[in-house]
Amino acid sequence: VIVQVTGSRFASPGEHARAVRLALLWAVGARDGKFGDHELWDGWASGIDEVCHTLAEQDFGWKTERFAADWRTCDPDWIDPLGKAARCSSSHRRKRSDAVTEYCPTAGFRRNQLMINRLAHEAVGRKVVVGFPIPSLGSRGTIDCLTRALHAGLPVISIPLASRDAR
Ligand SMILES: [Zn+2]
Repeated sequence: VIVQVTGSRFASPGEHARAVRLALLWAVGARDGKFGDHELWDGWASGIDEVCHTLAEQDFGWKTERFAADWRTCDPDWIDPLGKAARCSSSHRRKRSDAVTEYCPTAGFRRNQLMINRLAHEAVGRKVVVGFPIPSLGSRGTIDCLTRALHAGLPVISIPLASRDAR
């Protein structure tokens, strides 16, 4: 099974690794304490991506693949198939909270779509997209990725997580 994950940047190993671990093993149908021979794809971000990648590599011994978003580079040729993201323009770049570093606000959407397209075209029998939003903290990126997966006709599981920081 290829498991592609998406989830909150605010997830932490201490608070969420246990729930995430159970969800990943359930998603691949692992039984009898055997981790099996599976593959985990993530978006190379902090939070859930990091928690899942570490579990897959260090605990389960699964193959892993990471899809980093290219926040530095615009792609004016990219047209969002869902029409959610506007095309890159010279004026749309935004500044990080340090007020210096610029980034492209569509880079996350582009990465999500690329990852979903890759998964949709993989010739393996079983694949699933597992989302771990923390709804009380927004999780717009997670919901974006899950939406793209649904449009691509991929199997989707969403496991909402609680947060101590929720307000
Ligand atoms: Zn851009």
